[in-house]
Amino acid sequence: MFHKVTVTWNPVTGCMHNCRYCWARKLVESRLRKITRKYKLGFLPNIHYYEFKRKFKANTLVFVSDMGDLFGYFIPKEWILRVIAHIKQFPRTTFLFLTKNPHRYLEFLDLFPENVILGATIETTDDKLYWKHDISFAPLPSERYKAMKEINGFRKMISIEPVLDFDPYVFDDWIRDIEPEFIYIGYDNYCNGLPEPPVMKVFELIDLVKYHTRVYTKTLTPCSYRKNKGAIPVAAFSPN
Ligand code: SF4
Repeated sequence: MFHKVTVTWNPVTGCMHNCRYCWARKLVESRLRKITRKYKLGFLPNIHYYEFKRKFKANTLVFVSDMGDLFGYFIPKEWILRVIAHIKQFPRTTFLFLTKNPHRYLEFLDLFPENVILGATIETTDDKLYWKHDISFAPLPSERYKAMKEINGFRKMISIEPVLDFDPYVFDDWIRDIEPEFIYIGYDNYCNGLPEPPVMKVFELIDLVKYHTRVYTKTLTPCSYRKNKGAIPVAAFSPN
């Protein structure tokens, strides 16, 4: 079963979760806003109707709205319904959603076609870290875990990226409960000064979860090390 994103499709862009490490927002506000009208509203949520002319090939994995969070509470339901209606025309293509508000998936469970993967970013098991380091306005990691656990009958994935410090045994329990088909794990690509875990802890987690899900690793070098060595961060594929 493939897991590599083949193309991205952004019929809806923007996000109000305001994560401090969001590369998509930074890209929009620094460069994209000046060169394309698509981002004339900056990173405020917006729908782009011309994108619904887009067609997709069979046997590809399409990442939907990587330049925002399609399931944020600030996205109108009609926009999400429009996206779902469009992807239903391509039953042989797989569509990946990734959100920090998976509770909103519950509103649409009767409407999703089979060819979707419902993803959630959960960067840590430690809600307090979120407050302490002012990480994001998104629902807390424990709330995302509870929502993902409730979802049955769909392919699921978890992105632990950018990984923040965590309890490996709690994370292992969460992954067992959620039952994702696969997880991604990796450090912050852009060195935003996040509270990162030590490398050994990340490997401990991989060792624990590899028995009940597939693990795909991204950047496995902490920023502190890369900064010291002057290494160039590997490009991320997802802001969520
Ligand atoms: S990282 Fe994702 S959830 Fe956070 S602000 Fe950016 S698009 Fe929104």
